[in-house]
Amino acid sequence: MNLHEYQAKQILRTGNISTPRGIAAANAEAAVEAARELGGVAWVVKAQIHAGGRGKAGGVKVVKSLDDVRAVAASLLGRKLVTLQNAPDGQPVNEVLVEETLPIARELYLSLLVDRETERVAFVASAAGGMDIEEVAHATPEKVLTETCDPLLGVQDYQCRALAFALDLKGDAFKDFCRLLPQLYRVFVANDLSLLEINPLVVTADNRVLPLDCKMSVDDNALYRRKSLAELRDDSQVDAKEAAANAANVNYVALTGNIGCMVNGAGLAMATMDLIQLEGGAPANFLDVGGGATPETVAQGFKIILLDPNVKAVLINIFGGIVRCDVIAEGIIQAVKEVDVKVPVVVRLEGTNAELGRKLLAESGLAILAAESLTQAARLAVERAQ
Ligand code: ADP
Ligand code: MG
Repeated sequence: MNLHEYQAKQILRTGNISTPRGIAAANAEAAVEAARELGGVAWVVKAQIHAGGRGKAGGVKVVKSLDDVRAVAASLLGRKLVTLQNAPDGQPVNEVLVEETLPIARELYLSLLVDRETERVAFVASAAGGMDIEEVAHATPEKVLTETCDPLLGVQDYQCRALAFALDLKGDAFKDFCRLLPQLYRVFVANDLSLLEINPLVVTADNRVLPLDCKMSVDDNALYRRKSLAELRDDSQVDAKEAAANAANVNYVALTGNIGCMVNGAGLAMATMDLIQLEGGAPANFLDVGGGATPETVAQGFKIILLDPNVKAVLINIFGGIVRCDVIAEGIIQAVKEVDVKVPVVVRLEGTNAELGRKLLAESGLAILAAESLTQAARLAVERAQ
């Protein structure tokens, strides 16, 4: 689950990390009020969306008068901001962050993430920070430095110094940086983050080091024990179908094809998507109804699939291992009756009580196409979708 920049910075502050002073605002007048409270003669007004690339897309503006704060806030709020990271749909700007400006001498890149290969938290840093880090990583990977942390020891002083030297920091900036890394590590672990990205981490004109931007993602699997973070969920920033799936507790990922998929088990769901591709089609989503699917979860999953206007056929592929096929069939029948389904539905049931399941579907009087095998099911779905 992603957080907004202003929320991420508040969390950094709980770890005693200095950040630029800033106040979030949901309307232009509140933005002006925020600027007045911060004082000074210049401010940055930053659109708050769950995506980076805002600067290049006009979502981050430096202004020098309260009138300009009002004008920029008004122009950003209430519209969708499209950046390279969330194109083509963009995300709605419901809040802006009004922040003091800092005199920037250098822009560095620093992030913490879970390195899956080493199964450890790693720091990734680069002297080439700012708005083009993706390009840097792609074209000049040698400019990206990594330090992997031992889970028992956390980040060690020598690792901080190694990165500080590599980033060519001196004096106060060197000290700030070496103090910052263990603080970030503690924030990362204490909040069960999966990503903490600071781009840019700036060296100011007076040689201090501060995070100017901050992107945080919380591990979804830890939200049950991070209740205060879970409350920061902002469904306006995620795909409406994914938000509905999250509320219904089904694993759904929206994709761009036209065949809706409902499958039990992530592995089988992946295989189903592969077969659809093999038959020349494209899946509209990934959906794993889980091992313990009930008629209700099947019905919910079905409704979520059909929220997508691109869906031209639905392929249901269930292997009844723990879950019984007749239970799944009931769920399908219930959903098809409740939702006015206009697209062809292809069903492949295999495993426990498969025959009973097929019989229920055949006797339901609904226009459901039964497939004998997975390949046939994929072929049928692709045919019907065209
Ligand atoms: P994004 O990564 O979405 O483009 P950032 O928060 O990194 O947004 O802001 C983009 C750029 O705007 C930064 O690289 C920096 O140059 C400038 N900027 C952002 N916040 C401030 C600030 N408080 N003071 C001065 N410049 C800023
Ligand atoms: Mg940034």
